[in-house]
Amino acid sequence: MRTYYIAGNWKMHKTRAEAAELAGALVSQLKDGKHKYLVAPAFTSLETVGAIIRGTNILLGAQNCAPEEQGAHTGEVSVLQLKDLGVQAVILGHSERRHTYKEDDELINRKVKLALQHHLEVILCVGELLAEREAGKAEQVCETQTVKGLAGVSATDLSRVTIAYEPVWAIGTGKTATPEDADAIHASIRGVVGKLYGAKAAGDIIIQYGGSVKPDNAALLMAKENIDGALVGGAALKPETFVPIAKFS
Ligand code: PEP
Repeated sequence: MRTYYIAGNWKMHKTRAEAAELAGALVSQLKDGKHKYLVAPAFTSLETVGAIIRGTNILLGAQNCAPEEQGAHTGEVSVLQLKDLGVQAVILGHSERRHTYKEDDELINRKVKLALQHHLEVILCVGELLAEREAGKAEQVCETQTVKGLAGVSATDLSRVTIAYEPVWAIGTGKTATPEDADAIHASIRGVVGKLYGAKAAGDIIIQYGGSVKPDNAALLMAKENIDGALVGGAALKPETFVPIAKFS
């Protein structure tokens, strides 16, 4: 039985004071929430938010990490530094990292393996561009990103991996994949995990949907058999939009 998992990616938004206000509101409004929750503030707010959500039902996530443990990597943030701040999970392969910052599958895989080696949970994002969907390549793109992203990940470590299917054309655009289209890709990703790790792992892995999830479409998406939660961007920035998604019924 998979748990619904709702994660908020705050991207490059919020000062520490603003992040603290949002985190405080989520702690009080989600304390009776039934699902698994995570917030991923900017690096600069991790310590502040971590202190507010520690001991609650909300996990602390980072939005990225370096592929090396430490060293001469100006501007990067290490998994050791994240752990030092109490970070429990890291989002990797987000489409903004893939397309704006040109991260490829090989780099993302190195980050995935390093984060898992240090016992963090990972949310591995996959998803196709609009041109790839229109060319009928959505499943193939997601399969490649899943296979390459998980290369070398053991079956034991896979239990700490969540996959987020985020069609790039749906992120921050107000366009959402139909629940049927999203479910079809989720089923195909689950099939890929099955081929790599077997039926039990395929049945257990949580696959979130991301791309303009809002209070009015969350329940419809999550009603689908293969959609186990959401990775939320814009709507995660206010309690009045994140809480109804997190408490969908
Ligand atoms: C995201 O960035 O992961 C995302 C899904 O953004 P939005 O909800 O704003 O589309």
